[in-house]
Amino acid sequence: MTAMDVIVSLCKRRGFIFQSSEIYGGTGSCWDYGPLGVELRNNIKHVWWRDFVQQRADMVGLDASILMHPTVWKASGHVDHFTDPMVDCRECKRRFRADQIDDRPWTHYCEATKGNKFIIPAGEACKHCGARRALCPECGKGELTAPRQFNLMFKTFMGPVEEDASVTYLRPETAQGIFVNFDNVLQSMRRKLPFGIAQIGKAFRNEITPGNFIFRSREFEQMEIEFFVNPHEQLDGRAADEAWHDRWIADCQAWFSRYGLDPAHVKLHEHARDELAHYSKRTVDLLYEFPMGWSELMGIANRTDFDLKQHAKFSGKSLTWFDEERKEHVVPFVIEPSAGVDRALLAFLLDAYREEEVRGDKRVLLRFHPELAPVKIAVLPLLKKRTEIVATGQDLRTRLARRWVTIYDDTAAIGRLYRRQDEVGTPYCVTVDVKTVGDAEKGEAGDQRVTIRERDSMEQIRVPMADLENVFGRLLQEGGAWRDVAAAYPPAGELSV
Ligand code: ATP
Repeated sequence: MTAMDVIVSLCKRRGFIFQSSEIYGGTGSCWDYGPLGVELRNNIKHVWWRDFVQQRADMVGLDASILMHPTVWKASGHVDHFTDPMVDCRECKRRFRADQIDDRPWTHYCEATKGNKFIIPAGEACKHCGARRALCPECGKGELTAPRQFNLMFKTFMGPVEEDASVTYLRPETAQGIFVNFDNVLQSMRRKLPFGIAQIGKAFRNEITPGNFIFRSREFEQMEIEFFVNPHEQLDGRAADEAWHDRWIADCQAWFSRYGLDPAHVKLHEHARDELAHYSKRTVDLLYEFPMGWSELMGIANRTDFDLKQHAKFSGKSLTWFDEERKEHVVPFVIEPSAGVDRALLAFLLDAYREEEVRGDKRVLLRFHPELAPVKIAVLPLLKKRTEIVATGQDLRTRLARRWVTIYDDTAAIGRLYRRQDEVGTPYCVTVDVKTVGDAEKGEAGDQRVTIRERDSMEQIRVPMADLENVFGRLLQEGGAWRDVAAAYPPAGELSV
């Protein structure tokens, strides 16, 4: 299990993720994605959109605005119910979620040991006096207030006047933008049930206890699908909404494993009756084995007809689909696969992380799926003093960058350059050396071949420069296996591993 602090430090060091407004001391639980982080994040969103929207005949996309009519949040139940119970410490003023307070280690001044301070693991009693936590888990001194409900939506004002009438909210989920556009999409796209609408976008929650890096932050991004189903229909011998729910659970699970999550690190969690949200008929979460324990990666809920009915009631507009066969208006049931971009990214990072020993040295690598890797190809010169080598390397970068994210780096010796690319998960390095360009002074012609090194196996092959687009097209676009593609070329005389 990869420790969280190892990933946090790699992310900062190598330009994946920085704390927001760090030079001012940081903003509570907001994160900025650096040059490599933004590529990784875009790649996750891109493959999700391609696989779940563009490649499916029963899906379309949407991009709704973050600020919506305030009645949306009344109708959805967020104004009244989107709350967490919180307690405050009367001494240090820290605030905690009442339902999570026993999940954290607690500070204890033990009277049986003359008031010595101990940090006791979550949920356990003091070994010396047998006491259980009663006071603030952080300072160990203050009494906690009784739980109060705290709404997680960020409030803001629309327009120039800060008055009650202009209060609105930053959306806490992208789903409602889909529900309020249900009829627009239905009419403009001439859809029939079942069909789905997907959206990727920012959501905001004023979480009481954010933490665990990007797992729980106050500003995050969601990838959500609302899949509309006719509940009167039968599919696979049962109600269509129930059958579609199971299909979506299987599709989401398969998607995460396709892009690299070890299936042993993902499991399903079926919500018990008392855990279900008020609108849900059934909810299943995909849990990932994060360093802090099994936690929600995404949720897949059967939201029934709750949202469409609520919005029809509050807006006075009919939100139904007309079933031509049965000649009846139907309020569709909704299956909602809802994933967080940031949690997915964290899981992909944790699962990709490896430490290996190579000839007595430590090698750190991120074994990203090539489609997720922020940089696909790194062009590296063996000798940066030779102008022909540098020029050839830079030309190659320009050429390959037309199709794949390609960088050029000559700021260290080749062994170190390979390690750097391993650590950010670049699947292929291309090295230009003396043999590639030859030596004009000695009258030696170059062989116009370069070395390609594969990240995971560290194997190296010698390939004509003219073949590079063909080779990388097979590897990076057509999903070709390294073993098969490499078999057509001779191994390279090893430059370094
Ligand atoms: P949790 O129980 O962890 O607070 P939730 O059940 O409230 O999550 P949903 O409302 O189902 O979450 O949101 C769908 C997805 O959005 C989650 O599975 C998660 O991936 C992501 N998500 C929700 N809240 C956050 C957050 N504060 N930071 C990052 N991602 C989040």
